[in-house]
Amino acid sequence: MRSRRWDPAVAMANVQEFGEHGGVNPDICDSSTYTFLEPDGMERTFLGQQPGCYLYSRHYNPTCAYLGRLLAAMEDLEDCVVTASGMAAITCALVQLVDPGDEIVASRCIYGGTHTLLERVFPQKFGVSVRFVAPTCLEDFERAITPRTRVFYVETLSNPLLEVAPLDELAALAHRHGIKLMVDNTFAPLLVTPAHHGADVVVHSLTKFINGMSDTIGGAILGSREFIGSLRDLHQGTAMLFGPTMDGLRAASIAKNLRTLHLRIPQHAKNAHYLAERLQESGVPVVYPGLPQYPQRKLLAKLGNTKKYGCGGMLTVDLGSKQMADKLLRALQMQRVGYLAVSLGFYRTLFSAPAASTSSEVDKEEQQSMGLRPGLTRFSVGLDPDIQLSWERFCEAAHEVGFVLRR
Ligand code: PLP
Repeated sequence: MRSRRWDPAVAMANVQEFGEHGGVNPDICDSSTYTFLEPDGMERTFLGQQPGCYLYSRHYNPTCAYLGRLLAAMEDLEDCVVTASGMAAITCALVQLVDPGDEIVASRCIYGGTHTLLERVFPQKFGVSVRFVAPTCLEDFERAITPRTRVFYVETLSNPLLEVAPLDELAALAHRHGIKLMVDNTFAPLLVTPAHHGADVVVHSLTKFINGMSDTIGGAILGSREFIGSLRDLHQGTAMLFGPTMDGLRAASIAKNLRTLHLRIPQHAKNAHYLAERLQESGVPVVYPGLPQYPQRKLLAKLGNTKKYGCGGMLTVDLGSKQMADKLLRALQMQRVGYLAVSLGFYRTLFSAPAASTSSEVDKEEQQSMGLRPGLTRFSVGLDPDIQLSWERFCEAAHEVGFVLRR
């Protein structure tokens, strides 16, 4: 039984491995291929009769496997395969789970790239139909189930609207019907451990908080040993055959950054909370999961370790119109509050207007039905050493463009 004091960062810290010469960081495996002493060893490995032998780095690279062990410890799942991007992780995991004619029920409020993949590519290229429903509405998920439904797909904290998926209830519903629950936990690493709430498969974009440096793209798929083994299968595994491989050098650098995630996440949250409170006092429509007005505060507290890790580094602000969003975001960048850039989880603040950027692939009607307005802006709050100064700069930028803050 899991200890009541289980903590994802402690679980990760317990992964203590050494380099070949006793180095405190495991050695980087800088090879694409591996030698065999005997030709029949190679043949047996290809036939799957000789487990544990390294073959080729698209199949298995020891440094990528080390990063995978850290992530598996963090998410309390048996195994992990890391990929070259979050989209590669999502695509490979989903294709592995479905066959032509199957169906997926997905939350409507998800990252624009995933939404488009599910709306267009899966039906048109793979013959898999997808029904989109409200992430918080269990009845909608239940109504959408058919005998061909194989997967429920949700984000823990949705991009960009920050809606929390009721994971326990979704998992119970899914499992009653033999359906797998797949959760994208990109917005809530450490904060929520989806496997503790019934998730069968967890995916991440490592590009974001986990790496935290905005210097690379990366992804991960986590699940049972059996499922991750199936992804690596030489004859049927999407992680082997689609070739979404991460490079070993990159895996080593992400693994080192991951080791400080437990320090970064509370600081992102503390700064985001501060800005959210100032915005709220100034009469600006702000959504932040730590504010008392946030409708799903209790659900997030039930799912996540908000006491230790805070309520995340993301917030949204409705600036009323795209014109105002464009003006203010430009001014914020000039004032050095952060960068006008997509992505999130960076040590500096990043901001963008999703309707015209990260969710622009989603058609306008669908944007409207998910509540994504043109003036909505998304902030990934950084590790600012002086968040009060950042707020003063925010106020200066607002003043410059005539965006009224009630003082
Ligand atoms: N999942 C979420 C929630 C995201 O926000 C993103 C990208 O923004 C992705 C997945 C895709 O990740 P990547 O850009 O690493 O492919």
